[in-house]
Amino acid sequence: MSAEVPSQPESLEATSPFELRLNQSSGAPESFVKKSLDSGDVGFLHSFTTGSAVDGPGVRVVAWTAGCNWRCLYCHNPDTWFMINGMAVPLERAVDELRKYRRGLKVMSGGLTVSGGEPLMQDRFTVRLCTAAKAMGVHTAVETNGHLGDRLSDEELEQIDLVLLGIKSWDSERHRQLTGKDIGPTLDFARRLAAHKRPIWVRFVLVPDLTDGKEIVASIAKFAAGLENVERVDVLPFHQMGRFKWEKLGLNYTLGETKPPSIELVEETRKVFRDEGLQAV
Ligand code: SF4
Repeated sequence: MSAEVPSQPESLEATSPFELRLNQSSGAPESFVKKSLDSGDVGFLHSFTTGSAVDGPGVRVVAWTAGCNWRCLYCHNPDTWFMINGMAVPLERAVDELRKYRRGLKVMSGGLTVSGGEPLMQDRFTVRLCTAAKAMGVHTAVETNGHLGDRLSDEELEQIDLVLLGIKSWDSERHRQLTGKDIGPTLDFARRLAAHKRPIWVRFVLVPDLTDGKEIVASIAKFAAGLENVERVDVLPFHQMGRFKWEKLGLNYTLGETKPPSIELVEETRKVFRDEGLQAV
């Protein structure tokens, strides 16, 4: 398979996922992409970043996958929506890259996070990369919208030490408006993870006038607390750092006038989760 892999840059690393990366696999034949997705022999990655302290516990290496099935209005990495924008990286190369950091990751109580984009668009690659990471003693996390959770078998869930699950809203109409998709599969995946006692960190993006409705936040908090496997809730204040990507890609960005939430609103929102007995930061 490696012989077919389109040329790759010398370094997989980006200084941050905010680097705009386009058309890194534009020459790849459709048959190659399909074979890669089916086998997981090759992943399509926006980049690797190292030293992240915000994508799971400790210090993390993050593999940013390309391709997403959602279209969130506030997405700060819309260049990761399209698989073609990712570089084609053979699994062995991704594993070798991770191996370089494995000792440091242990010392810093960190690990590997597979994020995106939506990593479960590349479920075979994600599972195989996590399996290889665990085999070298590295903690694994997958950051996902959960919509494609059914693609993972119960055994494969065991290869993921932590799921960073984005819950965007509770109201189904608002959820569809925000993401383009139904919320049901995400909640079903959360329940399944709970049934298998697999830890979750909920990630909730707080956007004034879009996701900050008191009843909606309270419903998410109640749901998360009832699962009994949610270790932490990250309340992530909306920001405008991805705006330039929407503009560069010629996409219609509708949140140009939206301000980040106030510190008070962020704290009030965290308190709603804390009042349900959850750790919220
Ligand atoms: S699920 Fe994540 S990557 Fe996909 S559109 Fe939403 S914010 Fe962007």
